[in-house]
Amino acid sequence: MTALPSSDARVVVLGGGLVGTLAAAALAPSVREVLILEHDSALPDTPSPRARLPQAAHAHMLWAGGADAMEELLPGVTGDWLAVGAHRIPIPNGMVSFSAAGWFRRSWADTHYLIGASRNLIDWAVRERVLRLPNVRVQTGTKVCGLEGDAAHVLGVAVRDTQGERRLIAADLVVDATGRNSKSTQWLRDIGGPQIRETVVDAGVRYASRKYWAPQGTETGWPVIHIPADPGQGEPGIVATIISIENGQWHVSLSGTRGAEPCADEDLYEEFARRARHPLVAEFLARAEPAGEVSVFSRTANRRRHFEQARLPDGFIAVGDAATSLNPVYGHGMSAAALGAVALREQARRTPVLAPGFASKAQHAIARPAAAAWMLAVGQDRFYPGAIGRRPTPADRLVARYVHRLNHAAIGNALVVRKLTDVMAMRRPAHVLAHPGVLLAAALGPSTPQLDGPALTPKEREVLARPPLRTLGAAPANPAK
Ligand SMILES: Cc1cc2nc3c(=O)[nH]c(=O)nc-3n(C[C@H](O)[C@H](O)[C@H](O)COP(=O)(O)OP(=O)(O)OC[C@H]3O[C@@H](n4cnc5c(N)ncnc54)[C@H](O)[C@@H]3O)c2cc1C
Repeated sequence: MTALPSSDARVVVLGGGLVGTLAAAALAPSVREVLILEHDSALPDTPSPRARLPQAAHAHMLWAGGADAMEELLPGVTGDWLAVGAHRIPIPNGMVSFSAAGWFRRSWADTHYLIGASRNLIDWAVRERVLRLPNVRVQTGTKVCGLEGDAAHVLGVAVRDTQGERRLIAADLVVDATGRNSKSTQWLRDIGGPQIRETVVDAGVRYASRKYWAPQGTETGWPVIHIPADPGQGEPGIVATIISIENGQWHVSLSGTRGAEPCADEDLYEEFARRARHPLVAEFLARAEPAGEVSVFSRTANRRRHFEQARLPDGFIAVGDAATSLNPVYGHGMSAAALGAVALREQARRTPVLAPGFASKAQHAIARPAAAAWMLAVGQDRFYPGAIGRRPTPADRLVARYVHRLNHAAIGNALVVRKLTDVMAMRRPAHVLAHPGVLLAAALGPSTPQLDGPALTPKEREVLARPPLRTLGAAPANPAK
């Protein structure tokens, strides 16, 4: 689609995180100027940690749908990731996964991929490209503390700089990308705007993550090792995942729902990994050296702020976690937001940003991919003991049984594997799972028997044959290396 001549609009994006920069990339071709306001005092020009990105200490899967969307917004960004050590991991065969129905085979056509990289690296490459756009600027050390305007129009924001000075910044469009702690529902009320309805489903997930040095010979070509929880068991769920990232490291995230939360104690870390439904992750970790400390994170509730249902003032939209934050174990936050950014770009191509009603249309478009990821997450999280939010309905139970049946069929059915990974990779909406061919395959079940253990290659098995570096309960080896 050809872009309309760019409008004279000035956009102010609140938050210079991943989604703020993607929103800037989405809008830059259609407007005069984009100014990103970021609370952090600086944004690093290398793939290094920053103060207000605590989740970067945790493993981040970037699924193909999200990576494709970022590539569409910023052609070349995938090459930037790979050039500095990120891995392009083929899916489904580059994943060793133990679903509730059994071990997945790894002998299918690779139809998707995911990017194995630290969150710092993913954000850095995106940021570098966005900040090179001629009409995008970032102002760091700037804390946004409210909206300016009224119930009909947002006209700008109030900010405080590092000296505590308060001032106003005018904007034709304000884009809230301040993440899961966004205050914009309150800010909208402060200017007489609408009450935003919120839905929360909180399985009480706590994350504990640590980097390890990949054992010799596993630095490249290593699969994701993923032991998901089974929400159908009526017990707290534990998830254990290893992802290869840059610098010859594995990023490991363990998590547990309410009643099975991991702690930050390094001595207990690998013991906790052993409590997952299969000890495979723990077995690999016992053969790897830790490369850092354990970080924990607990603000993981699924929280949807339904901006798209409200009568929003013109000149305001919310994107990314500020609108929909998801339980991270499904790995969809970045991808849903990137797809939302593509939808925002398309809307800005169709409707001038200054036109009345642009914000409302854009908010609807952004909500679609987020809603798809939301359904996948809450469809499982509602079943964990003590989950906060609406209880599962008979319809929820029926869908959960169908998903289990699909996982069962995926043990030995190429079509079902393909469709499940289409949805998991966020390249297709979930309704492809209701296609008649998929329904039939689910009814027939797998055409091959269950595997009695993980489908490992000789190289992967050889690592397990090495003597463990630690026995359980022993203090971890010196992380300095
Ligand atoms: C433990 C964990 C693991 C995760 N794993 C995955 C995964 O595997 N795959 C995946 O796709 N997603 C994952 N996610 C989700 C992903 O991290 C989020 O979806 C993503 O960070 C959202 O980006 P954002 O830009 O909306 O928010 P953020 O990344 O939180 O950025 C918000 C930005 O706004 C700035 N800001 C905040 N308030 C203000 C203010 N008042 N003024 C100015 N600036 C402000 C902050 O400094 C920050 O830079 C995970 C999340 C967590 C917590």
